[in-house]
Amino acid sequence: MHTPECSYCGKRWSYGQTFKQVFKIKMICPHCGEENYYHANKKGNWLPLLAVPVLLGLVILLKLSSVGIILIGCFLMILHFLSIPYRTRLQRTGK
Ligand SMILES: [Zn+2]
Repeated sequence: MHTPECSYCGKRWSYGQTFKQVFKIKMICPHCGEENYYHANKKGNWLPLLAVPVLLGLVILLKLSSVGIILIGCFLMILHFLSIPYRTRLQRTGK
């Protein structure tokens, strides 16, 4: 897992640089100023699905209450959110 590289100059964006740009349609490279677009990473997309059986396992193992399930759900959402720069890949066109 690493942060994305610019599709033009090939320089790697830092975590903060990626996070600031990732919610925009056009992501401007901080190194060369070119416009990059989000590229769907097929390999990474299924990873969050792994959390579902893990979550179910935890619920059964720890005999969690609904509050515990909600807390784990929130934790997974935060984790998902924080890992966005590591799962973002860039491409030159918006297609
Ligand atoms: Zn660049």
